Amino acid sequence: MSDRHDDKSLPAKEAVYIPETINEAMQHLRQNRDTTIWAGGTHAMTRPSREGRVMSVHAVHELRRVIRREDHLEIGASVPLARLRLLGERFLPEVLRQALDEVGPPPLQNTATIGGLLAVPETILPTALVLRLLAARVEARRTEGTRWIALAGEQRALASEIRRGELITRVRVPSRRWTHWISHSFGRPYPRDGDSLTVAAMLAVDKETISEVRMAAVYASRYLVRTRELEAELVGKRHPLQSRDAAMVEQQLGAHATLQTEFSELARHRTVHGIISFLQQR
Ligand SMILES: Cc1cc2nc3c(=O)[nH]c(=O)nc-3n(C[C@H](O)[C@H](O)[C@H](O)COP(=O)(O)OP(=O)(O)OC[C@H]3O[C@@H](n4cnc5c(N)ncnc54)[C@H](O)[C@@H]3O)c2cc1C
Repeated sequence: MSDRHDDKSLPAKEAVYIPETINEAMQHLRQNRDTTIWAGGTHAMTRPSREGRVMSVHAVHELRRVIRREDHLEIGASVPLARLRLLGERFLPEVLRQALDEVGPPPLQNTATIGGLLAVPETILPTALVLRLLAARVEARRTEGTRWIALAGEQRALASEIRRGELITRVRVPSRRWTHWISHSFGRPYPRDGDSLTVAAMLAVDKETISEVRMAAVYASRYLVRTRELEAELVGKRHPLQSRDAAMVEQQLGAHATLQTEFSELARHRTVHGIISFLQQR
């Protein structure tokens, strides 16, 4: 471990603690609950911590591993996006590869990490939306214990689920195969609150019948729309979707409260018609 705070002339708020193991990181978090965690620092550096210390986890080797299991991929929280993209060439779901390719400019991809991307406060970035649809799970550790958080449904951004003193250590991505998928992004998703939109969807089709479908949209990197009832209703329908089923999708999606109240008119239109044309394409 190393600690730039040895220099007594540095004010405490500028100290950076650099653990080399998860255990060291956990001990530090237990003793310093107000520590700000830095991974790639691309977001964290824009929000200097006003109090407490910074812990940079870039030197924790265990957080930089990618392990391929039989039915899922286990990705260390500090794996940079560019490295994940490279390692996952053969193993990552295609829809996730596309989402990763679209994250900012190359220097950002080399620095930003998967854990940091998921933990930007109050923000759901396009890749995080795709990870939700893939039913990824996130391991969060404290000295008191470990828990797995399912990224799913309409829950808020992951950062609001993470407690003080908790460290994201791994992201588990199921390697199920999807026959059809889209991930379309419009506008800049970062910083949030702009006019950005991401529409993502995936289908498993077997003998021209939909066996599973997942679809969602996020507007301004914060308003999430996912309708599980509609997803359930589409199972067993013919693929490509027939016109009367498309009308049902339009009606149900259009009635979604968040879509009506929080999305711009253009974003609403792009969401509904993006999903319908996806379901109607061969
Ligand atoms: C100029 C610029 C352009 C961008 N463009 C895009 C874009 O086009 N598309 C896009 O999707 N995103 C974009 N982003 C956002 C970018 O994806 C995020 O800033 C990045 O993914 C965050 O990852 P990081 O490793 O740098 O996290 P950090 O900045 O280090 O941390 C982000 C947050 O996560 C917390 N955190 C980090 N790691 C952990 C951990 N292990 N456990 C608990 N908490 C943790 C930090 O405390 C902090 O609150 C852009 C950002 C910038 C600065």
